[in-house]
Amino acid sequence: MTSLQTRGPDQDAFPRTENVWPVAKSTKRRIVVAGGGIGGLTAALALERAGFAVDVLERSDTLGEVGAGIQISPNAWRVLDGLGAIPALEDAFVHPDVIRIHSVRAGGLVGRVPIGKTALRRYGAPYCVVHRGDLHRGLAETASTRPDIDIHLGVTVTDAQEDEDGITVEAKGADGVSSYRGEALVAADGVWSTVRRRLLRLPSADFSGRIAFRATVPSEMAPDLASFTGLWMGESTHLVHYPISGGREINFVAIVESDWREETWSTPASREEVMGHFADWPAAARRLLEMPDSWLQWALCDVGPGTIWAEGRVALIGDAAHAMLPFMAQGGAMAIEDAHVIARCLASDPDVDEALLAYERARKDRVERVMRAARDNARTYHMKGVMAFLRDAGIRYLSGTRLLARFDWIYDWRP
Ligand SMILES: Cc1cc2nc3c(=O)[nH]c(=O)nc-3n(C[C@H](O)[C@H](O)[C@H](O)COP(=O)(O)OP(=O)(O)OC[C@H]3O[C@@H](n4cnc5c(N)ncnc54)[C@H](O)[C@@H]3O)c2cc1C
Repeated sequence: MTSLQTRGPDQDAFPRTENVWPVAKSTKRRIVVAGGGIGGLTAALALERAGFAVDVLERSDTLGEVGAGIQISPNAWRVLDGLGAIPALEDAFVHPDVIRIHSVRAGGLVGRVPIGKTALRRYGAPYCVVHRGDLHRGLAETASTRPDIDIHLGVTVTDAQEDEDGITVEAKGADGVSSYRGEALVAADGVWSTVRRRLLRLPSADFSGRIAFRATVPSEMAPDLASFTGLWMGESTHLVHYPISGGREINFVAIVESDWREETWSTPASREEVMGHFADWPAAARRLLEMPDSWLQWALCDVGPGTIWAEGRVALIGDAAHAMLPFMAQGGAMAIEDAHVIARCLASDPDVDEALLAYERARKDRVERVMRAARDNARTYHMKGVMAFLRDAGIRYLSGTRLLARFDWIYDWRP
């Protein structure tokens, strides 16, 4: 087990030596977070801000993310800003000026949604895109400056037992099983959450019958794609691309219908395999898809509405609670919002069970509305025939600002 302990300056001068000097752990209320992904690290920052000491237990030996991008909309940006995470992310963020919407049926561009300066003016916060690895690094770097956050790597949460005073979480590492004690377990262990399945006995996320192929290329290969986000909508398929890594790379996500399903982020796929799904696409779009030498594939899952998110001293956040289709680009943003709200609820009610139920009540309607919007987008993007014709005509008719305004309720959310 590796432990990435974060320390304040006074602790550096007098390092912790377990079993020799009884160095007092922080006397603050303690919370255990399962998973050091986007939601888990943001939760650690938010809980620390709210006055808690936090243990983050992460299964992987290193903190990181496979090569792919993520869009950070204004609602998520605002939370990260409030937690002091933006300085560590600023260089990696790219601010596309527009989303260009293309239709395969129409053979090209049908609409433009302004995001750059327009989003900033409208929401008071930017709409950014970033490499997932950079987002992770920035969050971990920010967490490492907070003495009350301890990140433990290479430990897999397997079980937990509650009692009147708290919860003991068991995690398996290379050295065996270790226990972590806190007032609550915040489970941010992702779409295939162990806590969701094993501790709360809830059904797993359902496979959606769609997969995402993801790849990045250096932006020198496609300099004309470096300033905007592109969306191509086809029959049962679509493609999104945007710049990441401070503009040095272009990220591609291609969605298709398929039966393939594996619980992994990193199964490789060849260019030929991907191109096979886009054989009838216009040449301009196929040229984009031909750029990457290889792709990674990822089975898309979502959770049906109506399941609980909290019970006793355990609560789910992010994909563990509400994995959703990525067609609103909001799964990570909702995990980030959850992190803020759960920290607020725990800080404002000493009754942990009540605080976690208050978190669920505060979040559920909004998140389920976003999930429905993602499912609606899935239908809209993949329309055929007359429906696709009407969709394209509607996009052409509406101004870009009106297209953006339909989602004010998402982007204008404030912590
Ligand atoms: C193709 C695609 C594109 C997307 N695009 C966007 C986008 O543009 N914008 C957006 O906001 N969202 C997007 N999303 C959604 C977003 O990626 C997820 O919603 C987000 O990663 C969820 O964060 P999380 O912290 O809940 O889970 P994760 O990021 O999956 O983190 C879970 C962590 O828990 C760890 N873990 C798992 N089990 C255990 C265990 N038992 N013990 C300890 N640790 C454990 C894992 O190793 C991992 O580090 C996209 C998703 C996909 C598939």
